[in-house]
Amino acid sequence: MIVALAGGVGAARFLQGLVRVVAPEQVCVVVNTGDDTILHGLHVSPDLDTVTYTLAGSINPETGWGLAGDSWWAMGALDRYGGPTWFRLGDRDLATHLYRTRRLNEGATLSAVADEVARAWGVRAWLLPMSDDPVRTHLSLTGGPEVGFQEYFVKLRHAAPVDAVRFAGAGEARPAPGLLEAIAGAQSIVVCPSNPILSIGPILAVPGLRDALSERRAATVAVSPIVAGAALRGPADRLMAELGHQASVVGVARLYAPWVSTLVVDQSDASMAGAIETEGMRCLVAPSIMTSVGAAADLARVTLSAVAAPS
Ligand code: GDP
Ligand code: CA
Repeated sequence: MIVALAGGVGAARFLQGLVRVVAPEQVCVVVNTGDDTILHGLHVSPDLDTVTYTLAGSINPETGWGLAGDSWWAMGALDRYGGPTWFRLGDRDLATHLYRTRRLNEGATLSAVADEVARAWGVRAWLLPMSDDPVRTHLSLTGGPEVGFQEYFVKLRHAAPVDAVRFAGAGEARPAPGLLEAIAGAQSIVVCPSNPILSIGPILAVPGLRDALSERRAATVAVSPIVAGAALRGPADRLMAELGHQASVVGVARLYAPWVSTLVVDQSDASMAGAIETEGMRCLVAPSIMTSVGAAADLARVTLSAVAAPS
């Protein structure tokens, strides 16, 4: 089994490549749920859905979230009542949230529902939320209030400066059933190119996971989401800088070095390899911009080679 830690879009694209390189049945994807939110009374799990829809080949390729070819009649109708419509849910996408909410209300766990949704979409990889318990990411805006993740990310378009991030509920959350065993038994563990603070941070905040991962440090490899000092999309670079980290592959290495042994960085960051090794990590240089599923598969192959081959 290969365990992959995942946020949303960057992770999903990488995983599309990974399941071309290894059998999808051998991949356990541990997905961030810190972005989860209740909207219109519905439980929305954005990262789980992004990974599911992408692996199903049904993601909206323009946005990287939502379903390809979805329509927006429900959002249009909701506007009549004054919304809220700032978080857009497509008509067909709504069915996923209706189903998930019903199952949770019936007493099903989030991990059971994630599996049901993934199977219904024909996804053969094992998708596991990091926890069945609620963990919610909150961000303190500089000189302003604390806001929930979606308010920051979607409503404020992640443009507001942040001076602290908190994962509410993490202290009481338990790792999803089977997750500790999967980590302990994995052949290798891959940290997808995801936001280190907002996507990987919540996973590490679940008690027990950071320690379990540290035990497997030699088998753990990460792909840097930062390329040439910038995030390819989203606020990872700004957020790292605002929270006192270097917005570079070296900054990523400092965050990951305690529990990850190898960092894969893009060719444009080749000159930083020495600095990464100074942080105590091996560095692997490879083209890491996933312009196609083929490119993602090549990146996945290189990434796995880092921990498969004896160093
Ligand atoms: P979110 O939940 O949608 O924010 O998604 P993630 O946390 O999974 O991904 C966001 C991160 O993925 C950003 O920091 C991007 O820089 C990174 N990313 C997206 N596409 C690529 C890519 O092609 N290559 C690499 N190396 N990183 C990428
Ligand atoms: Ca996300």
